[in-house]
Amino acid sequence: MSTGLVMEQERGCGRAEGCAAPAVVSSATGSATEPACPVCAGRRVERVSAQPRDYEYHVQPDRDLGVFVCDSCGSRFAFPRPRATDLVAFYPPHYHAYNEDHGAVARMLVALRGRARARTYLKLCASRPVRLFDVGSGDCRHFVELQRYGAFDCGGVELNPAMAEAARARGFPVTTGTLEELDVAAVSERYDIVTMYQLVEHVVDPVRLFAQAWRLLKPGGHVLGQLPCVNSWEQRLFGRYWAGYHYPRHLQMVSRLGLRTALVNSGFADVRVGGALHLQAGLSLQNVLVGRLHCQARMRYGKIPLYSMLLCAAGPFCLLEYLCGRAGMMNFRACRPKQPVQRGDTMREPGQ
Ligand SMILES: [Zn+2]
Repeated sequence: MSTGLVMEQERGCGRAEGCAAPAVVSSATGSATEPACPVCAGRRVERVSAQPRDYEYHVQPDRDLGVFVCDSCGSRFAFPRPRATDLVAFYPPHYHAYNEDHGAVARMLVALRGRARARTYLKLCASRPVRLFDVGSGDCRHFVELQRYGAFDCGGVELNPAMAEAARARGFPVTTGTLEELDVAAVSERYDIVTMYQLVEHVVDPVRLFAQAWRLLKPGGHVLGQLPCVNSWEQRLFGRYWAGYHYPRHLQMVSRLGLRTALVNSGFADVRVGGALHLQAGLSLQNVLVGRLHCQARMRYGKIPLYSMLLCAAGPFCLLEYLCGRAGMMNFRACRPKQPVQRGDTMREPGQ
């Protein structure tokens, strides 16, 4: 569960509202042999010595992905970069997000989170229905939850064909694929809000992702999301067992600076990044048990039977790192400025 509490605010490019229209810096993920940071395009990078493995689903990519750290923004990333077509194989059928059998406590937490998010969206947006586009929308069960609290017109995009089909069966317009590859011409400037929770870290090209979100949004619309934060006590404490790696599914482990840079470079203003209260350290604990003690018997949906106890054990640590500003998860919010910005004699949009 997460909250949107304590958001640091950054006026991104140092210009007033309406600054927008920055040129997008290519994510420049490097050549086949030369890695570069997919978040800030920095080329001074170094391979991390302790390489993670998949301790949840035991997926092994065709090519071993190394983890590199960017000297410019501190983000970490997988290299060589997988192709978009490689990604489906990283998500087995028993992946936790595809599981609807969450148990009573998880269902309660999901319901509370849905109510909190609905309130945030309704507060951000004056028009009704709120037009919301979710990236990585899964089977859209969360849209049903949102609609309990207000008028929402929801759509999305989902990589997994079966999940996208389940979403369409629920009546939501969901395209199979990725936002980076989606032709958004027909729906540009249609949405008030674009959401990407636990998503940025999964995509091959995060800057392209933000640029596409910018195009989907009406001027004045907002992008919101949540992702693991590499500048955290949790990452330092757990090392290769840090759940934020989620190897090989997390292709970048983003720093706060990297996230701000990518959003500003993608045309957003009023960028806010802050810690999120979350129990991710419970999964890091599980990774230690599986990786070092081989406690992987009877795993279900990537979790061992003791997982609920590990979440409880991780609670005080997660609260402490959150209160000290070093949480292992971060929330972000940013705005597509209402006025296009003139740069020299030309009006520019992301991607130009
Ligand atoms: Zn970087």
